[in-house]
Amino acid sequence: MSEGNPIVELAKRRGFFLQSADAYGGVSGFYTFGPEGAALKQNIEDTWRERFTIQEGNMEVDAPTVMPEPVFEASGHLEGFDDMLIECPECGDSHRADHIVEDNTDLEDAESMAIERVEEIVAEYELTCPTCGAGLAGQAIQQFNLMFETNIGPGSSSPGYLRPETAQGIFVEFPQLAEYARNQLPFGVTQIGRAYRNEISPRKSLLRVREFTQAELELFIDPEEDEPDLERVEDVAAPFYPADEQQSDDGEIVEATVGEVFEEGIVADPWIAYYLGIAKRWYESIGVDMDRFRFRQHLPGELAHYAADCWDAEAEVDGDWIELAGFAYRGDYDLSKHAAHSEEEFTVFKQYDEPVTVERPTVDPDMSYLGPEFGGDAAAVADALETLAERDPDAFRDAQADGGAVTVEIDGQAYAVPVEKTGFEIEEVTESGEHITPHVVEPSLGIDRALYTVLDHSYREDEIDGETRRVLELPPEVAPTTVGVFPLMDRDGLADRAREVVDRLRDAGLAVTYDDSGAIGRRYRRQDEVGTPFCVTVDYETLGEGDDSDLEGTVTLRERDTTEQKRVPISDLAETLTELRDGDIEFADL
Ligand code: ATP
Repeated sequence: MSEGNPIVELAKRRGFFLQSADAYGGVSGFYTFGPEGAALKQNIEDTWRERFTIQEGNMEVDAPTVMPEPVFEASGHLEGFDDMLIECPECGDSHRADHIVEDNTDLEDAESMAIERVEEIVAEYELTCPTCGAGLAGQAIQQFNLMFETNIGPGSSSPGYLRPETAQGIFVEFPQLAEYARNQLPFGVTQIGRAYRNEISPRKSLLRVREFTQAELELFIDPEEDEPDLERVEDVAAPFYPADEQQSDDGEIVEATVGEVFEEGIVADPWIAYYLGIAKRWYESIGVDMDRFRFRQHLPGELAHYAADCWDAEAEVDGDWIELAGFAYRGDYDLSKHAAHSEEEFTVFKQYDEPVTVERPTVDPDMSYLGPEFGGDAAAVADALETLAERDPDAFRDAQADGGAVTVEIDGQAYAVPVEKTGFEIEEVTESGEHITPHVVEPSLGIDRALYTVLDHSYREDEIDGETRRVLELPPEVAPTTVGVFPLMDRDGLADRAREVVDRLRDAGLAVTYDDSGAIGRRYRRQDEVGTPFCVTVDYETLGEGDDSDLEGTVTLRERDTTEQKRVPISDLAETLTELRDGDIEFADL
């Protein structure tokens, strides 16, 4: 996205976001949110917290951004969190090979192709370097790990990584978090925080950066029992783009409700369906244009190997569909991995309704027989007998029936043990429950992409009094500033009265800006451009209506989108603006 883009230009000029460390030449993929952007981002995060944590009864955590290497060994990021890197032989610039393929051919999903295939395609289509135009045919493509590495403490004995997603900070604390949830499934844990990916070629402004904010929810469920309350979202309508529609020549978007797509099996998992509904409502509430929004199912080749199903929320920005969020059914992959790599239990105890009596096979091998018979291998044979008893007790029963031997295999070698020397028995035990590894459903949203989309979708230009007006039609709930307060003139006590109004509104918790410079029309334009939904003007009528001390009288309240103005008593102003911001009343109702 070039500097000529109106959003990028507006963002820099009015303090939404700017390339960071510009004084030192800047580094791509890092942005500083200016005053307007930081406030907008905070408000977006607050609404996410409200909808995904508080209203859903989930718990929020705040984990470190640096984590030790074993965490990422277990999660698989060390081994496989790679993108395809191709370097230009002429200018030396690095690019993502899969993006070059997707941008310049009609092939899709190059990310899931084998490196050799992508190399062939680069040669076959004579693809060139996006920076200098040199041919890339014959250039080797490498796997490039996206994690930023660091050392924890002096020396290099304790490598750590900046987290590439917030999720692992939740998974590694699962044993403790399950305790906080009183070991009751289902429960959900959320986190809003920074994530870091050393993207090969950051691009499109905030849409692909190296440091960004994620808002993730990990839902821990019992796949056999837990179901969401789908009724709460069943009427939420959205465009859905299932995998089979994407694969068919005349594939279409399905306009349907969450209830319908679940009923028809288009979205198979009820938890995913539920959170698609919650997410649709949230995206709409923060100002994403629902005519430029859809849920797209991952194609089979796109799915991570552990994910049973995954849907992305996508928005159209500058003619491209970009991923805003992923909603994945991850099974027990994450918890099982951490259980296998650590000393901890990543399970919960599931109580049965009634205690159950089960048969448990046990062995008690006669070591005075196994020792002389198998020498150094005796202990391994005993272990193998135990494993076999759990896996296949019939092998022992059959041997008992014909008075024969049980055979175990260790490293390709067979060891036959007479069944009476194995101490095989079936015990009857009464169990009150079992340890299960919960399954995980993960809605994973990016805040920066949401913020950029909201700016892009809310930006419009119109004409007022023959002049172009640039306006951000941000929903009042997320707008950086709720109200601009202006004295009509900077004299005759108008400014003092306006400052008193400002104090009163700030005391009520409203985000207020005061502006007394330039013509009133220009002041309105400045607020329109940063999305301030309301402006208040203190004029001579205000002064004429009451004395200074009790702030009687009325002011002009102007609505950004319609530019309509109404007179409102100062005494009601804070309450009226709060209700307008929270969507409890409409300007037209005043
Ligand atoms: P992409 O395919 O676009 O690289 P991804 O599938 O790797 O994204 P996830 O790992 O699912 O992304 O991350 C969840 C969310 O985090 C994304 O939907 C997106 O909103 C955000 N995100 C991921 N990478 C970036 C990035 N480099 N810059 C900004 N946001 C990002």
